[in-house]
Amino acid sequence: ILIPFLGFILAFWFYSTRENFKPEMLKGKRVIVTGASTGIGEQMAYHLARMGSHILITARTESKLQKVVERCLELGAASARYISGTMEDMAFAEHVVKEAETSLGGLDMLILNHIGTSYFGYFNGDVGHVRKLLEINFLSYVAMTTSALPMLKESEGSIVVVSSMAGKVGFPFTVPYSATKFALDGFFSSLRQEFSIQSVNVSITLCILGFIDTESAVRAAADLLLVSPAPREECALEILKGAALRRRELYYRYGSTRIPLLLRDWAADLLDYLVRSRYRLDGLKRE
Ligand code: NDP
Repeated sequence: ILIPFLGFILAFWFYSTRENFKPEMLKGKRVIVTGASTGIGEQMAYHLARMGSHILITARTESKLQKVVERCLELGAASARYISGTMEDMAFAEHVVKEAETSLGGLDMLILNHIGTSYFGYFNGDVGHVRKLLEINFLSYVAMTTSALPMLKESEGSIVVVSSMAGKVGFPFTVPYSATKFALDGFFSSLRQEFSIQSVNVSITLCILGFIDTESAVRAAADLLLVSPAPREECALEILKGAALRRRELYYRYGSTRIPLLLRDWAADLLDYLVRSRYRLDGLKRE
């Protein structure tokens, strides 16, 4: 009886002493959001605009970025601008960070969110595709982080890495994508350790997302997944809250991500089975 009671008291103490999110925390902050022409990135840009941040967004499609910037300005952004280009090119990734230095005079938050296009199906053996996806989904994150670190150290800022359940546990039908997301966990979790040893006050928030209702995800997976997607607006806000509170990891939605992951170390086969049972396999072509 005593152990659960003490556990309850400790949990209550822990949660009651945690700082709460306030939108003012992001007012006037200088933020880069990658992959912000659509989906969760676009929604993060709108939330940041409502909170009065300075926003620099990037993706490939200039016409979409222009519209997002216009909307951000209508919603109250302190400033909003974009740069278009591809994250296959590491020089472009570094150029985006340089632009923050030139136009914003520094950086408080780097939100790494973009992903390259991949397929949803059995691994097709295309090694070139895995390499390309690693460049877009992983190496460009490393390049941007490296370029941004001097500014983030100066501002004691934050790095936000948008990942997935597929970056914590093996998911079928997204083999190249999962590999890139696992790589992010390895790199940024190790880097966080080094920041701690070196007393570098830059937070790293790794975001573990479940299925979200963005156009691309619904188009790719809705017919095969037996779960309904969560709303992207809410997801975007939860990411920003976790980032502002300098959380180590953010799980959205908590119940369908954090709780199943508790099985990972103790009952991995059961977790694998539960993951597989969430797919409608009859519609999938066998390679
Ligand atoms: P979207 O497909 O909606 O958006 C992807 C963004 O990346 C777009 O802005 C796209 O713009 C940009 N992009 C694509 N290719 C490149 C490229 N080569 N260079 C630069 N930018 C590029 O993604 P979501 O909003 O669904 O996902 C956002 C994040 O959330 C990702 O990290 C994803 O892994 C994660 N996530 C999403 C889930 C979901 O169910 N939606 C589940 C788990 C994690 P453009 O085409 O104009 O370049």
